Formats: sequence, structure tokens, C-alpha cells
Amino acid sequence: MSIENKVVLITGASSGIGEASARLLASRGAKVVLGARRDDRLRQIAEGIEEDGGQAAWRKLDVTDPQQNKDFVAFAKERYGQVDVMFLNAGLMPSSPLSALKTDEWDRMVDVNLKGVLHGIAAALPEFTAQKSGQFITTSSVAGLKAYPNGAVYGATKWAVRELMEVLRMESAMEGTHIRTATIYPAAIQTELLNTITDKGAKEAMNQTYDSYQITPDRVASVVAFAIDQPEDTNVSEFTIGPTIQP
Ligand code: NDP
Repeated sequence: MSIENKVVLITGASSGIGEASARLLASRGAKVVLGARRDDRLRQIAEGIEEDGGQAAWRKLDVTDPQQNKDFVAFAKERYGQVDVMFLNAGLMPSSPLSALKTDEWDRMVDVNLKGVLHGIAAALPEFTAQKSGQFITTSSVAGLKAYPNGAVYGATKWAVRELMEVLRMESAMEGTHIRTATIYPAAIQTELLNTITDKGAKEAMNQTYDSYQITPDRVASVVAFAIDQPEDTNVSEFTIGPTIQP
């Protein structure tokens, strides 16, 4: 089964990479289920997809709440009868130097970028295990591969999700449940991600980078589509994607 008719759940689908992925996958015949906190945006995106002839449903989701993740998966199953792909994409990046001690923001990044992914795994894994198939994809970052000043905690959460994806696939292979996993490492992508930065110096530095080079989120969406589109016995594990001119 390729993308067509697959039921693809997307967290962080109200903007940026999640929104672009929902639109692209729906245009290629997937049934997409959108989750995020801004339900007005979700409704608008889902309506747009349906107007274009695609299939989309949405449900308000805060990934930090384990029960809401379970409800999100149950909603998708009730709506479309199955769950094939869980794209764990929700995230935020309030960058700052460690010395600024923005501990509330550290907590928030761990809660959303890391624990949110764990809650999503916990919600969908029982379905995938029961049906002996399924795919998790997560949006890490180039900050999950390389250290950057102002990005310690963000980078730590993004390093961690890679481990989750790879071990999940290995364990699933050992258990005979055939779950595929992929990790995507985007560089500078034009989205709303920088809006969460409160540290003045970090914001200026990041704005400078993103003003110099960025590509649109539909480019990342095409990588998500590529990972889903592989035959069931084929796992593509990791992709780095960013502007050609980014050092
Ligand atoms: P956006 O800010 O446009 O999207 C972030 C998404 O995450 C939004 O849909 C937001 O929805 C959602 N989100 C945030 N907190 C929560 C929460 N508690 N529960 C549910 N959803 C939540 O940025 P991007 O599209 O860029 O970000 C998507 C992913 O890509 C993130 O994981 C980010 O770290 C990663 N990334 C982005 C890069 C870039 O340059 N843009 C580079 C590398 C990685 P809402 O606020 O409605 O809940």
C-alpha cells in the first residue's frame, strides 16, 4: 500500500511542516487527521483540503497530555477505520543560552518535543502492534545532529527523538511487528517556529540566519511523502533537508 488510502495522523498540523504535509499527503490520496491546539486553524486547513477533493479530519490536541494523544488515535480509528502512519511533528524552539536560565522554556521543550513524541508513541503503538504494521515519523532537526549555541535544550530534545525512532524499529523487528520509523532533520524552513523565541539575542541571531536562507515547508512534506511511499518491507530511516546555500 502506498500513500493512497493510508490514514496519516499529524501532530502540529496547524501550521508549517505539519500543515504542508497534510496538504501534500491528502492531494496524493491519504486520509489525513490533523492535531494541534489551534483548532480554528485545523478546521480551516481541513476544509481547504476537502474543497480540493481530499479527505481530512481534525481534532484539538495538546501533545503534552497523554489522554489527548490516546483520544486523537481513537478518533482517527473511529473516523477512518484504521491508523497507518503517526507523524510526530509538533514542536517549539524557544532558543536561549543556558546561562539565561529560562527553565520554564526548558520544561516546555522537553514536554512538547520529547514527552509529546513519547505520548504519541504510547497512543499509536498498541494499534500498530495489533495490526503488525504501521509507521512513525518524527521531525527532529539539524540541531539533533550538531550542537549550536542557544540551542542546548532544543537540540537535546531533538537528539533524543532519533534514538526513540531507531530503537522502536529495531525492537519491532525483533518482536515481529514490522513497524517502520523515520527521522527527518530539517535545517532552516520558513514556518512560524521562531515565534516562540523570547531571548532577544537568540532571536536576533536566528532571524539573521532565517533572513539569509530558508526553504518552504512543502519541501519537507515531500520527504515525509517519500518515507511513507516506500514498500512495506523497506524502511528509510533518516533524512537531512535544508537550503542548498545553508553552511
Ligand atoms: P510551526 O511553529 O509552524 O509549527 C509547530 C506546530 O507544533 C504547530 O502546529 C503547533 O500547533 C504545534 N504545537 C506546538 N505545541 C504543541 C502542543 N503542545 N500540542 C500540539 N501541537 C503543538 O513550526 P514548524 O512547522 O517549523 O515545526 C514543526 C516541527 O519542525 C517542530 O518539531 C520543529 O522543531 C521542527 N523543525 C523546524 C525547523 C524549521 O526551520 N522550521 C527546523 C528543524 C526542525 P499549535 O500551536 O496550534 O498547538
